[in-house]
Amino acid sequence: MVPDAVDVLVAGGGASGFMAAIVAAEAGVAAVHLLEATAEPLTKVRISGGGRCNVTHACWDPRSLVGHYPRGSRALRGPFARFASGDAVAWFAEHGLELVEEEDGRLFPRSNSSESVVAVLRQAARRAGVVLHTGAALQQVSRREQGGFQARLRLAAATGAAGGTVNVVCRRLVLATGAHPSGRQLAAALGHQLIPPVPSLFSLALAGQPLQQLAGVVMDPVDLELRLDSDQVEQPRHRQSGALLITHRGLSGPALLRLTAFAARDLKATAYTGELRVNWTGGQGPDAMEALLADLRQQQARRQIGSWRPWPALSRRLWLHLLTGAGVDPLQRWADLRRDPQRRLVQALTASCYRVGGRGPFGEEFVTAGGVDLGEINLASMESRLCPGLQVVGELLDVDGITGGFNFQHCWTSGWLAGMALAAADPVSI
Ligand SMILES: Cc1cc2nc3c(=O)[nH]c(=O)nc-3n(C[C@H](O)[C@H](O)[C@H](O)COP(=O)(O)OP(=O)(O)OC[C@H]3O[C@@H](n4cnc5c(N)ncnc54)[C@H](O)[C@@H]3O)c2cc1C
Repeated sequence: MVPDAVDVLVAGGGASGFMAAIVAAEAGVAAVHLLEATAEPLTKVRISGGGRCNVTHACWDPRSLVGHYPRGSRALRGPFARFASGDAVAWFAEHGLELVEEEDGRLFPRSNSSESVVAVLRQAARRAGVVLHTGAALQQVSRREQGGFQARLRLAAATGAAGGTVNVVCRRLVLATGAHPSGRQLAAALGHQLIPPVPSLFSLALAGQPLQQLAGVVMDPVDLELRLDSDQVEQPRHRQSGALLITHRGLSGPALLRLTAFAARDLKATAYTGELRVNWTGGQGPDAMEALLADLRQQQARRQIGSWRPWPALSRRLWLHLLTGAGVDPLQRWADLRRDPQRRLVQALTASCYRVGGRGPFGEEFVTAGGVDLGEINLASMESRLCPGLQVVGELLDVDGITGGFNFQHCWTSGWLAGMALAAADPVSI
């Protein structure tokens, strides 16, 4: 049962809510009550990273770390200066969870299972004295004249005698409800501006599915340039480089997901239409390619073009596709490649153009851009500038990172800052 009056109420039993509650309780705040609307807390941690949970990223310098957040960015310098990836690794180690770095910098639990992250957070909360209430949703909240908040909770039948609603008074409230609409409504009810949610980190579908036959091909690195149709958008061109995966419907992979994350709002504004230019060479310009093909005409004169690729890492399937598109017969010898077809081939290698046909499925990790405006939050304590006693953490804020552990890192950071600030706060009588 939730008592009638509590010191701290944390709404949302996800990564950020657990971090805030544990840090506050460990630092001496008594009676931290953590509400989770569903029957099980930490569901997203459990399903994250394909069941492995990509806890954070080996990006140790806060100044570099902020570059991985399309929304948040430089505003996060202060928070990361106090608690960044290295602090998260140390925090988890102190609580009994060792993280292991993969080649690309992502950090996972040594067990390779998200269950160990869930177990560590639950155990730390229990040991610190956090009281977890599952099946308990924060439904409504208002400020009290004498300080603190009046909250109405909806209890699932399994947790209350017969379910229903209860009223609770709390001194301080932490909203950690993730992307759930209820959290946005609660924040708005307490006076906050909500930046409308839009999807981030998704693949792109290509009109006419021109690369369908190449599904499964990975090219690394490629250069991408997205040119959006409308000049109404803030930034009509977006560029990224890195690994690209060809899918049945279009394109995905780290570079493409980064591109859609940074272009999320502009893509939404143009109804996911535009042109995508792909430089398959990973940075070579047309002149360098002309020179390379001219060399091949000399040095591989007697070989068939289709069986001798310009560089070994160019996928054979992609090479044959580009040759056909440029009107070059793969059985032709290099010596017989004429000037015009060579120019078309250079164009295909350095600037293949595709119409974007819409938003494709999400990548492995999916997040929402938008949420509580960062300008309304004191980022040293995560306390609202509009509503004293209220703190907002995690995905409910207008912060999102690219794929690679950055989204959880923001949850650990904002949760830690909120917890520390709770411990430092002056008691207010309720
Ligand atoms: C499939 C998938 C895989 C992902 N993998 C990764 C990854 O590997 N690495 C990474 O960095 N990020 C990953 N992410 C993103 C990451 O999961 C989120 O950024 C993170 O979980 C957000 O944490 P949060 O605490 O803000 O919100 P959440 O994890 O969404 O937690 C909010 C909690 O609040 C509860 N709640 C909502 N409303 C109320 C209410 N009114 N009262 C009480 N409780 C309420 C919800 O039930 C939920 O349990 C992944 C996301 C998805 C969907």
